[in-house]
Amino acid sequence: MFTELKSIYPEGIATPNPLIIAGPCSAETREQVLTTARELSANGIRLFRAGIWKPRTKPGGFEGVGPEGLEWLKEVKQETGMQVAVEVANHAHVEAAVAAGIDMLWIGARTSANPFAMQEIADTLSQLNVDCPVLVKNPVNPDLDLWIGALERLYNAGIRRLGAIHRGFSTYGKHLYRNMPQWHIPIELRRREPNLPIICDPSHIGGKRELISSISQQALDMGFDGLIIESHCDPDCAWSDKAQQVTPDVLNFILNTLVIRDQKTSTESLALLRQQIDRIDNEILEQLNKRMSVSREIGQFKKEHRMPVLQANRYDSIMKSRVKLAVEMGMSAEFMTAVLTAIHEESVRQQLEILNRR
Ligand code: PEP
Ligand code: MN
Repeated sequence: MFTELKSIYPEGIATPNPLIIAGPCSAETREQVLTTARELSANGIRLFRAGIWKPRTKPGGFEGVGPEGLEWLKEVKQETGMQVAVEVANHAHVEAAVAAGIDMLWIGARTSANPFAMQEIADTLSQLNVDCPVLVKNPVNPDLDLWIGALERLYNAGIRRLGAIHRGFSTYGKHLYRNMPQWHIPIELRRREPNLPIICDPSHIGGKRELISSISQQALDMGFDGLIIESHCDPDCAWSDKAQQVTPDVLNFILNTLVIRDQKTSTESLALLRQQIDRIDNEILEQLNKRMSVSREIGQFKKEHRMPVLQANRYDSIMKSRVKLAVEMGMSAEFMTAVLTAIHEESVRQQLEILNRR
């Protein structure tokens, strides 16, 4: 248990609810860093993030500008007064970041999955005797013990300004989310470590800017302590993660429309109910997509076995049983028939596509 934690926010200042960290996925140029920082600062953001060393899945991608970016972050601090955060993954990164006076460090998902790297970072922080806040992203795989283990290595090295970042978990194949939220995992972390602040990263969970708002609301509804959101002065031209970045003004809009939960906020409020609808729609989409992918597998099977796509008996029995269930649940038979017909049409279309593929 982490019993002696201290605030991750600057000493002596009450941590805002929610804590917001924003900035580009990667520092690209001095111009891009400063422009983004100025716009975020003008919108009231106090904590600025930018990746300097980027762990890329494949070689050949943009791997970050390296230590040169630290100089730009120093300028951000000087000019805007914002605190600055970077991702570190090894001894050299920690040394360079600490020497540059970086205010906050975070550990990426690929690093928190690696106990050797975590121990190296913990040892370096302990040698340097720094009292810098460190946020640990969940490992790429859904392993809560590995996540807690990474945090423990830092705690055992004397780090007390500690927090966790929930950024979702990798899965195989295409999904609505880039990284599945698996909310029960951070919730279990909260149960086991109630003193540990947990921040949500809707940008890396969603992978698309359209999802940031609903994921953020869901996190706040579940009592997360803050949000880390990727923001870029020109998202469509970003050198990494462009689909999930938003301009500082869009970020401002998103933050202003979020419903901050406190004891006084009624769960009946319209905004909250609308957020629930957004969430459920996302779930429906996710499930529909799963159904289509199973249906494509069936299509493949039918093709291999020279079976026709349309199996009238099967379709009829699906219709009858689902419509009956829907009526029992209080929905109309007409409504459910229309929904199932539409789903079936799309399944048939996708199966025919497979059948006609050479
Ligand atoms: C990032 O924050 O830009 C990043 C690389 O995230 P993650 O480690 O969650 O993939
Ligand atoms: Mn990113």
